[in-house]
Amino acid sequence: MTRIGGAGKLFGTDGVRGIANEELTVEMAVNLGRVIATLRDGTLAVGMDARLSSPMFKSAVTAGITSAGCDVVDLGLVPTPALQYYVKCRKDLSGGVVVTASHNPRQYNGIKFIQEDGREFTRSMDEESERMYLSKSYRIVPWDKVGKVYVEDCRRTYIEGIMEKVDIDAISEKKFKVVLDCGNGAGCVTSPELLRRLGCRCISINAHPDGTFPCRNPEPVKENVEFLMQCVRDSKADIGVAHDGDADRATFVDERGEFVSEDVMLALMAKYYVEKNGGGIVVTPVSSSKCVEDAVREAGGKVIYTAVGSPVVAETMLKTGAVFGGEGNGGLVFPEHLLARDGAMSLSRVLELMAKEGKKLSELVKDIPKYVTLKAKVPCRDKLKLLEGLKEKFPDADFTDGARVEYEDGWILIRPSGTEPIARIMAESKSEKKAKELLEMGMEVVKSILS
Ligand code: MG
Repeated sequence: MTRIGGAGKLFGTDGVRGIANEELTVEMAVNLGRVIATLRDGTLAVGMDARLSSPMFKSAVTAGITSAGCDVVDLGLVPTPALQYYVKCRKDLSGGVVVTASHNPRQYNGIKFIQEDGREFTRSMDEESERMYLSKSYRIVPWDKVGKVYVEDCRRTYIEGIMEKVDIDAISEKKFKVVLDCGNGAGCVTSPELLRRLGCRCISINAHPDGTFPCRNPEPVKENVEFLMQCVRDSKADIGVAHDGDADRATFVDERGEFVSEDVMLALMAKYYVEKNGGGIVVTPVSSSKCVEDAVREAGGKVIYTAVGSPVVAETMLKTGAVFGGEGNGGLVFPEHLLARDGAMSLSRVLELMAKEGKKLSELVKDIPKYVTLKAKVPCRDKLKLLEGLKEKFPDADFTDGARVEYEDGWILIRPSGTEPIARIMAESKSEKKAKELLEMGMEVVKSILS
């Protein structure tokens, strides 16, 4: 079972994930449906991404929920944030389930639980779900209490929910030419229409849902979006946008066809929000680039760091009343809209910023401080030993998630992976030489602790 940094046996930081029909089975999906129905009662929304196994798992989850006596609102193929926003808006829904493996490769799928306010389940809620799943203490009702299934469409609510919040006049006046790469994922059903309704000229690629992902891997990182970069150059577009498989993330290509790093986009949006609000808190994991903190501080705001994973970012945003939050992977959180990552909202706000400032994307990101960020992996079979060794070696480090050590001219993060027997090391500095030195030092420290 693939777990993304979670502590449980089943649930990672993004629900349950695994290879379809090997690690994640239909039987598990049925019982997970029973678990959320038992925990939440009422009516639950169910949606899915475009993967080949998603209709199968959606049916199984729906069967589980109705067998536990709850009704299901079946939203079909939708971006994860579209379902989350719908659950938030519809006060009569007690939560939801998304069948998605987000950016994972083709063979994977996953099941993620959503709260009644649209947020993902927190770590403690996932732990509670897991206990109920393992102890089989979920409910199965008699024949005459089985739940009903209603088919609904949440796309209009979602698209119009975004349009209500952004400055449509400013965006549409510019008639931006946008190349949109949906990666054959769930974004196909909403983002092209949204762009059209924002008055943009949208050229879409990989824009039909296809769970074989024939053109690119669902993760919208630089090496997977070279075709998008080429299309932006060839069509002389203003901007390129790429979604991951369930469109809760967006990454960007500037008007020159160059990929803009996800951390830089996070810093740019964080700065925009802090400026708009005249200050405020921005929440981001300890793995984010220092350029975020620099940009936020310069704009008069403050950064609060969390462990890695979007539910903890959202939870901390709620607790601190943050104006903005996000991860350095293209997952941005706009709290006035939804306390969860939202790819379509991200692209709308980026277009709004370009329109309001009257600047090209490459000009906007020019003001974001430049850092060299290096990453490495070291084999690590004993996570506890590593963490204890790190506490001894760096007593003053930030242990929010692994050890983050600050130096005058850079920082380093050493973190045991939640999914693989490795330690991840990140080093960052304005100087490449220093970043390399820090990275090498980190690798040596890990090796010497584990030897
Ligand atoms: Mg995703």
